[in-house]
Amino acid sequence: MNRNQVLPQVQLSAEAIALKKVDFCALQTYRGAGFLAITDMPRLSLEVASINPGDGFAWQMETHFEDSPGSEPLQILNLALHGRLHLVCQRCLQDCAIDLDEKRRFILVASEPEADNYPLDDEEQEPLVASQHFNLLETIEDEVLLSLPLIPKHPEGFCEPYATVFGIEDDDEVLDERENPFNILKNMKKNS
Ligand SMILES: [Zn+2]
Repeated sequence: MNRNQVLPQVQLSAEAIALKKVDFCALQTYRGAGFLAITDMPRLSLEVASINPGDGFAWQMETHFEDSPGSEPLQILNLALHGRLHLVCQRCLQDCAIDLDEKRRFILVASEPEADNYPLDDEEQEPLVASQHFNLLETIEDEVLLSLPLIPKHPEGFCEPYATVFGIEDDDEVLDERENPFNILKNMKKNS
């Protein structure tokens, strides 16, 4: 028997507020999609350089049960995120757009210890602790934060280093052209 065919399927509301309380303990499957503004995610709001029109994340989710030999069927959550935000480019220090396109697969486990014991090397899926008031909005925000580049930058060749704009690099060149004091010393010794 395929459990998914007999369980009721619930359509999640696209509202951000509805994502804060999802009952993952109920015997039902979910499907949903929507769009989250940057301002729907308070921790992410602190990271961004600016909020431009169109910034935010389209999300898509579904849950289903998979048979597992010797245990209860496993509840799987698939999550897809697609969107854009603006961070500070570490080369030119101007805003730069970062596009994210992420797909994640999670397994919903019953308890915190079960999640802690879950094999770390499972690259296919990560554990989440199921609850009756599961905050899916927080999970989406976590995934966006985890997907951000450590050193955000415009594409290569797209911008100039911040230092050049203020002529610091030019000053270095001028310095190189000047007579190096050690060379002067060497020449003095040679000539004497
Ligand atoms: Zn840049």
